[in-house]
Amino acid sequence: MAVPQNKVTRSRRNMRRAHDALTPANPAECPNCGELKRPHHVCGACGHYAEREVVAQTDEIDLDDDAA
Ligand SMILES: [Zn+2]
Repeated sequence: MAVPQNKVTRSRRNMRRAHDALTPANPAECPNCGELKRPHHVCGACGHYAEREVVAQTDEIDLDDDAA
């Protein structure tokens, strides 16, 4: 097993961790339904992107048995 050659001091450890902070999400409001959504992503609530529907919602799909 690889073993560290030198002790990493508290200072070096903390300098390494200085870049580990998470950045907060930046949600944008959907122009169609007003739900918060990730920027440049299809709205998860209404399936719209750039103010047109690109993903049909599950309750809008007609799943009748004899179609298949
Ligand atoms: Zn939406």
